[in-house]
Amino acid sequence: MSELPPLPSLRDTVREYGLDARKSLGQHFLLDTAICTRIAALAGDLTGRHVLEVGPGPGGLTRALLATPAAQVLAVELDRRAIAAQQALAAHHPGRLTVLEGDALELDPLAALPAPRRIIANLPYNVATPLLVAWLRQAAGIEGMTLMFQQEVAERICAAPGSDAYGRLGVLAQWRCRAQFLLSLPPGAFSPPPKVFSAMVGLTPHAEDPGPALFAAMERTTAAAFGQRRKMLRGSLKQLGQAEALLDAAGIDGERRAETLTIAEFDRLARALLAREAADGVA
Ligand code: SAM
Repeated sequence: MSELPPLPSLRDTVREYGLDARKSLGQHFLLDTAICTRIAALAGDLTGRHVLEVGPGPGGLTRALLATPAAQVLAVELDRRAIAAQQALAAHHPGRLTVLEGDALELDPLAALPAPRRIIANLPYNVATPLLVAWLRQAAGIEGMTLMFQQEVAERICAAPGSDAYGRLGVLAQWRCRAQFLLSLPPGAFSPPPKVFSAMVGLTPHAEDPGPALFAAMERTTAAAFGQRRKMLRGSLKQLGQAEALLDAAGIDGERRAETLTIAEFDRLARALLAREAADGVA
């Protein structure tokens, strides 16, 4: 087999493939190899894991992931210019890197990869929240996620009840996973630097699978409760119908506000909503 030319540095990759960053694609690249290695290490032991990376860009994190004992990396990227850079990297790791051109929002990680599956990514911020919610819906099939968000979003994902950052996203994430704030990174860690700090979050899904109907009921419950977060629950849950009966069934005082409810209390509310809808023949 002929020797492959050595891979260019990440900065040379950006130059060679004309990867000038596009705002519309949320492109803030990690070009410091040490930071990429550190981020890959935050995911823990990847031996034999099948890893999905969203948006490999010039491939810094992808290179760090390929340096672990992961079984394979599947990289999905919307930017065709970056795909070409990834093909060169794939040639250096025969059989371990697959590059897909496409929209991560349309990819089903459970269909695309065998278990045990991990998702590890420096996410494009414009689609980070919808991607996370889609993965939470399927969390039972995912062993773990190690993801970079804007720090403010990372704080919302990990927020405790009673805090200002506690809301829909935190309840959904912590209902389905153990969420850990892992690392904060300043804008200067990226090229070009974003306007705000970024942070890595670790998400380890709970074993229990609520199933799609209960997940949907939880989405409706949290949307109603936090849609008017300053209101008492007996008011904010009116849009779900029979708010008082729902709160009674869940054993929750209607004078409380959404931000004071624990994850376990939201779980009771969502189950009560689903049970009522099933009894009414709605669900
Ligand atoms: N992983 C690279 C790094 O850390 O240097 C790039 C991270 S950059 C924050 C986000 C990447 O996601 C970009 O390469 C961008 O082209 C890609 N991207 C944006 N929207 C996407 C989508 N819907 N599906 C797949 N990739 C997307």
